Amino acid sequence: QFGARGVTLQIPAWTGPQAICERILARRIRRPGDNPMSFNELGLSAELLRAVKEQGYEEPTPIQRQAIPHILDGHDILAGAQTGTGKTAGFTLPMLQLLENPPSGPRRVRALILTPTRELAAQVNESVHTYGKYRPVRAMEIYGGVSPRPQITKIKRGVDVVIATPGRLLDHVRQGNIDLSFVEMFVLDEADRMLDMGFIRDIKQIIKHLPEKRQNLLFSATFSKEIRELANKLLDHPAEIQVAARNATVDRVEQLVYPVDKGRKRELLSEMIGRGNWQQVLVFTRTKHGANRLAKQLNQDGITTDAIHGGKGQGARTKALRDFKAGKTRVLVATDIAARGLDIQRLPHVVNYELPHVPEDYVHRIGRTARAGQDGTAVSLVCIDEQKLLKDIEKLLKRAIKKEYVPGYEVDKRIKAEPVQKGKSRRPGGPGPAGRKKAGKASGARRPGKNARNNNQRKRFSKSARSSVS
Ligand code: AMP
Repeated sequence: QFGARGVTLQIPAWTGPQAICERILARRIRRPGDNPMSFNELGLSAELLRAVKEQGYEEPTPIQRQAIPHILDGHDILAGAQTGTGKTAGFTLPMLQLLENPPSGPRRVRALILTPTRELAAQVNESVHTYGKYRPVRAMEIYGGVSPRPQITKIKRGVDVVIATPGRLLDHVRQGNIDLSFVEMFVLDEADRMLDMGFIRDIKQIIKHLPEKRQNLLFSATFSKEIRELANKLLDHPAEIQVAARNATVDRVEQLVYPVDKGRKRELLSEMIGRGNWQQVLVFTRTKHGANRLAKQLNQDGITTDAIHGGKGQGARTKALRDFKAGKTRVLVATDIAARGLDIQRLPHVVNYELPHVPEDYVHRIGRTARAGQDGTAVSLVCIDEQKLLKDIEKLLKRAIKKEYVPGYEVDKRIKAEPVQKGKSRRPGGPGPAGRKKAGKASGARRPGKNARNNNQRKRFSKSARSSVS
């Protein structure tokens, strides 16, 4: 027990006495009602604090405040945190600290982070590099859709942290390219998305290649029965952290619904972007064809637009995202899978050009804006066909979303509702058992969610994946 407040600190066996003393000195014991905590009080090393400071972060976000001390203490974590809460730094910073002293001999993979999409893997890797700027830690990303050779070369050179999507990682494991038996920390990021995308089998296979004794961190925006089951199997007496109510949307996002006829959505969107002088807008469609069509139309309207979806090669996706982040394109039209986990700093506008089939996707979509304490708006253009989808979303949110009407775009009452086609636009690996059952069987340049697509789509898809490899 330390200090008058009588808080017990568990001292794990794996840290040296000096590190323990530093952490005890650095971490002030807190009481409810204390002023906001600063990063200095979390027990992070000077190099990490310096990197954080360079990012301009003034204080830790709630997930960082709660997760970092537990992770530094060696506990498993079950964290309910959606994207935009600062969760990446929440696990990356303590991970970098714990990887402080590399054992002598060749570099081994000591931390493994699994993410549902390539974009998220790339972003997490970027965070590891940003926060680990002053630490001698080597990290790399591994995902499909690109040639495996450069990845193999990098692995062979030695790496401490691997950030991977499950499919390609498993290919490397099976081909003996990578050894995961020295992993000390295993992170499942956006675990709910991974299960939705049919990755559960791959995840279980990967776990078989990890050592029994390791620290496990599971991050998920939502907690389904499946996530609970996975957590029960994976985690050992985890510290449970919840920073946002289940399925709650980010508080600071202003949400609005604009009722409009399907055929006039594009016109309305162009007008909103123009009139509002919106400079950076992420627009969601349900299908990749819809994304391409809309991007073309907006370009014709004089609004620079690009599309990002699973039908595009990795090079095109990376470029689209880079141009959007750099302000070269004003609008990025995305499908749900492609946009998963995208972190775009200060993104002020998200538009649901079409509502998603799965209400939880709405929460993920609008989580792209108002990240880490900034304001943002999420606008949904809703036609008569989508009333049921809107109701499902409002049921999930447990409240109605405010409606606004734009003069000149009044809904034509003569138009009858038609069911929204699921078909091809259905979310890969979604509720149907087929998507899940097939997951894990595909190999090669695999993309998340591709398994659940129909055969024709898969053929077309593999072709585009191959062409992006050459
Ligand atoms: P994440 O939820 O990890 O995707 O992070 C969302 C965004 O929050 C990223 O752009 C981070 O750079 C940013 N961020 C992370 N931690 C902080 C912090 N303590 N203060 C301000 N911004 C942060």
